[in-house]
Amino acid sequence: MNTEMLKRRISGAVITAFEPGFAAQRSSLIWNGRQPASRARLIVRAASVADVQEAVRFAAANGLTVSPRGGGHHFTGIAAQADMVIDLGALKRLQIDAVARSARIEPAVNNLELASALDQKGLAFPLGHCGSVPMSGYLLGGGFGWNGSVWGFGCGLVRSAEVVLADGRCVSASKSENPDVFWALRGAGPGFFGIVTAYHVDLKLAPRAIETVVRVYPGAMATDVATWAEAVMAKAPASVEFTAKVANTATGPMVAAIATVFANSAEEARAVHAVIAVGAPSALETIGPMQSSFPGLYQATDPTVPVGRRYRVDSVWSDAEFGAILGLVVDGMAQSPSLDSFTVLTLRSKAAPMPADAALSQDGRIFGAMYGQWVDADDDERNAFWLQRLIADLSPLCCGAYVGLCDLSRPGARLATHSHAAVSRLSDLRRRFDPQGLFTTVPAAPALAAE
Ligand SMILES: Cc1cc2nc3c(=O)[nH]c(=O)nc-3n(C[C@H](O)[C@H](O)[C@H](O)COP(=O)(O)OP(=O)(O)OC[C@H]3O[C@@H](n4cnc5c(N)ncnc54)[C@H](O)[C@@H]3O)c2cc1C
Repeated sequence: MNTEMLKRRISGAVITAFEPGFAAQRSSLIWNGRQPASRARLIVRAASVADVQEAVRFAAANGLTVSPRGGGHHFTGIAAQADMVIDLGALKRLQIDAVARSARIEPAVNNLELASALDQKGLAFPLGHCGSVPMSGYLLGGGFGWNGSVWGFGCGLVRSAEVVLADGRCVSASKSENPDVFWALRGAGPGFFGIVTAYHVDLKLAPRAIETVVRVYPGAMATDVATWAEAVMAKAPASVEFTAKVANTATGPMVAAIATVFANSAEEARAVHAVIAVGAPSALETIGPMQSSFPGLYQATDPTVPVGRRYRVDSVWSDAEFGAILGLVVDGMAQSPSLDSFTVLTLRSKAAPMPADAALSQDGRIFGAMYGQWVDADDDERNAFWLQRLIADLSPLCCGAYVGLCDLSRPGARLATHSHAAVSRLSDLRRRFDPQGLFTTVPAAPALAAE
């Protein structure tokens, strides 16, 4: 392996395990403060698509496994587990065509950057719920974002993508060009067999009014909250994003019922909130309506997931009664070893359908994401055990997990992240497009589907 040659061939940086500071560089690849076991021994910080191609060819010639890295946000830390990490962090050009309502987005552009650029032009996109997450892995896993019940998953608005394949070629993938690659990159997540270097997406007109009301309840009122939520969400338009955030406190679990309305005017938003308020159980506290913009929404969500904390996260899709899931989550959160942990449960009673003909193949009317969050490494094990038990309790009522927020390192049976048909097509495509297994070093999520 002659890394000196690679260094001469690329305009970005090549960092080998023998160089001073390698360990720190490797840690900086992963957003989670709980660093995973890593085998990365070569980091290529790509400055261009040509660098990505060179790095892939070098890996293939030297028998190295490869992982692309967008922002290192996958909580499992899988971006640092191959021999060579190709860091796409410098690929962050964004071109917006406001007239055509479309954009070319390089992988490292993050939610906040895209939200801010679109907001200036009165445009929007189903962006994820935390500002620092890049499009790279977000869209690859499906993209469960704001106003998703109207706009659908982010990957449903991808029209084409530029992809470096395992043989080093850079190809365009769309419905008409390389349709198998296009199918896979919309939902495969870490099981994808190439490197996306740009997404071409359709954009939406931004709603002119975004208003949120938060009602806070003690966990003991979970049944009342769920009954009301089911009733109002059956009537409310799809443009309401209803999320119950459950956290533990010194006095026991609390439920924050968060209703965000995406509307075309303040009057329309208020009218929808009036519908939502009907039958709402009496709350300990009601906050709002609070007006926001898409970039502004991150001021509420980002502080709840501080950088540097230790995280273990898992997720579920469910079609069960909201009350049954919320009740189990409240009971589970009461057992949480950390008061910083929380669960978000989104009730998607009028969700837009999943994109047709895409690897994304699991969803449910309830989306749940369980964020174990703590500070000390000594607490790793008991937090892991707690999360595993919560998922085990929920699993009989669940139909799958979301690959972008699934704990891929968890031992034992896991909820399926993809349908059987998708798992089978993905493994066929992997054999065809990546016969050497360059990109298959991690336990690829699609292969984890339940029998
Ligand atoms: C705080 C936080 C909030 C989140 N909220 C949401 C949310 O609201 N909705 C949602 O859908 N998800 C959410 N996620 C999950 C997030 O979308 C995934 O973790 C996603 O993988 C992050 O992208 P990344 O590029 O940083 O991934 P990385 O950790 O960099 O990469 C993970 C793996 O994805 C693959 N990959 C990444 N980029 C590419 C690429 N360009 N080409 C090919 N393969 C690639 C590789 O296999 C890589 O090993 C959240 C994550 C965090 C940390």
